[in-house]
Amino acid sequence: MGGVLVDLGYCKVIREKPVTKDVLDAVEEAYNKNKALFSKEPKKKFKIIICDSLSEFKKRSGKHFKPWVTARVDKMRILIKSQELIKKAKKPYDKLRFKEIMVHEVNHVFWNSFFGLKNKPAWLQEGLASYVSGSPRINNKELREAINKYKVSYKILDYRYMNKKIKGHMPKYYVWEGFTRYLVERHGAKKIVRFMDEYSKHPYQDDYKALFSKYFKKSDGRVFRDYLNRLFNKEVQTYMGKY
Ligand SMILES: [Zn+2]
Repeated sequence: MGGVLVDLGYCKVIREKPVTKDVLDAVEEAYNKNKALFSKEPKKKFKIIICDSLSEFKKRSGKHFKPWVTARVDKMRILIKSQELIKKAKKPYDKLRFKEIMVHEVNHVFWNSFFGLKNKPAWLQEGLASYVSGSPRINNKELREAINKYKVSYKILDYRYMNKKIKGHMPKYYVWEGFTRYLVERHGAKKIVRFMDEYSKHPYQDDYKALFSKYFKKSDGRVFRDYLNRLFNKEVQTYMGKY
């Protein structure tokens, strides 16, 4: 496939159509946001391929193709539908903006570069990417309704990407994003990066549990409970002698 290539130094942007300024602005913003979050840059140059048609997206996705997917990351390569193509899609994807998706996907490239491709936890990997991409996509009231409807518990912090115990259309990403935002507010993004730096050197599930408690002072389940208490305005006021 031919097309246009723009080399930005840290990445190459490839598109069949001309690479317009709005695309380059989105890439630049995505890169800078993630550089600030991680306080470091990937050593290897990555690639962003903008697809202007579903057939091109299909061809380039290969066996991973799903028509409703907006973008995918494959190690250090981002495949993303163009803004024009995203707009053609029906709900809920038409609500998502190209810029926000770009920040999300570039976050995955940074993650892959520093922590490795297979190193989960999935909730933090997706939570961090969604958190950095911008403001929450649903408000706290909607989030509370979803959590009640699907009886969300700490089990949503499934370690592996797809835990078979978690069924249905529970809005996992929204909860992961909300919980990650809570962690950032409480502990700062730098601590999350330090936690992943240490964990990715020895990425086993038992180490994950021990390290999480070391960095965040409680188990992931307990911190998640604190998060739910705050979301539902039931924060325990220990200093006031209540409870
Ligand atoms: Zn993602």
